[in-house]
Amino acid sequence: MGLSSSSRLPKNRAVNRQQLFSTIKRVVVKVGSSTLTEGTDLSLIKMERLVEELSQVKQNGIEVVLVTSGAIAAGRGRLAHYFQDSAGSTLDPSQSTKVASCNSGINPVIPELQAAAAVGQIHLMYGYKQLFEQFGHLAAMILVTQDDFDHRQRYTHISDTLRTLLRFGVIPVINENDTVAVDEIKVGDNDTISAYVTNLVEADLLLILSDQAGFYTRDPRKYPEAELISTIIQITDEIRAAAGEAGTEKGTGGMQTKIRAAEIVTGAGEIMVIADGSQPMVINQVLSGREVGTLFLPPDATRRMSARRRWIAYSRPTRGVLFVDDGAKKALTTGGKSLLPSGIRHVSGDFKFGDTVSCCDGNQQEFARGLVNYTAQETKQILGKHTRQLQKIIGNFYYDEVIHRDNLVLLKSSQN
Ligand code: GLU
Repeated sequence: MGLSSSSRLPKNRAVNRQQLFSTIKRVVVKVGSSTLTEGTDLSLIKMERLVEELSQVKQNGIEVVLVTSGAIAAGRGRLAHYFQDSAGSTLDPSQSTKVASCNSGINPVIPELQAAAAVGQIHLMYGYKQLFEQFGHLAAMILVTQDDFDHRQRYTHISDTLRTLLRFGVIPVINENDTVAVDEIKVGDNDTISAYVTNLVEADLLLILSDQAGFYTRDPRKYPEAELISTIIQITDEIRAAAGEAGTEKGTGGMQTKIRAAEIVTGAGEIMVIADGSQPMVINQVLSGREVGTLFLPPDATRRMSARRRWIAYSRPTRGVLFVDDGAKKALTTGGKSLLPSGIRHVSGDFKFGDTVSCCDGNQQEFARGLVNYTAQETKQILGKHTRQLQKIIGNFYYDEVIHRDNLVLLKSSQN
């Protein structure tokens, strides 16, 4: 499915990119495997070009965090005799059942990819260490999993560490901890990790360096008439559909995960750019406000979300949905109230106490996210009921609210 480029251009919000980018103080740059590799191995020349540019950005007074892929690609290159294809594909847990019976060759099993990540990570990080030192900077390695973003305590620890590193003038280099992260605790792609990190450190910009020049009206590899969209002011279903299945050979990313990253970042009030990582000096071009790549703007550029609200709404997967009636929606969106059991009509998903769940209205439109005080099972038992009935239905109960207003985040699109 395609869309018209002009239909997405800002109509009443003129964008002066030079002005917009002149205020940037902290940037997260995400680089994918395909931007770092040549053939079946890491390309030191490409890595050096990237590091040189990042060093310049840092010298110009902008703090830099790098989110990098390339561990599995590097590991597979070095274990080529075990990986017959040596294609450097990345770890995709959704493939685990499909490939569970194979060993190496075309479809390696998950432990083999994890072994490749373990071998590759050390080379990847050593490469960055050496190169950043060459340009006079100290780099630090941080490996993360979904768990680190899910748990409030771990989240604040990583946040403290990252902020301290930045204060020390160190450049954090982040990748997923592929060797331990499977299924439940795996984020799965570095586009999403980079969006989480952007929110975590409250960076002003996430710059995703891709093997494509930006976001197109259609997949440009299949449709030569596809047009690059310069600015996206709202991520609509049309945009999500146009993101389609676009992926690359060496990365797990593709455009769908980039659009998801844009939703996470712009939802919290920051901006994101997708640009072509193979273009010389592309980071500098973006930061100097040149019209390169695709710029994603937040729905309301004047309101940046607080760190805790970012964590609730945009740093962990939603584990369920509470469908509420109109009265409850109104109480939450305009009355600043908590969500009581009486306003809930229907529940889906399997969540436990403290998980993030979505709140949807009768039209299935998501308008809020929050930390839930009851399990899915309990919520099903108490939905539609008055608070005074709870004791009788579920025995000991600790909360009047299913989501307390302090733990509820209204999504910006619902406040327009
Ligand atoms: N963590 C993976 C690696 O270093 C990459 C995942 C991705 O590209 O999204 O190979």
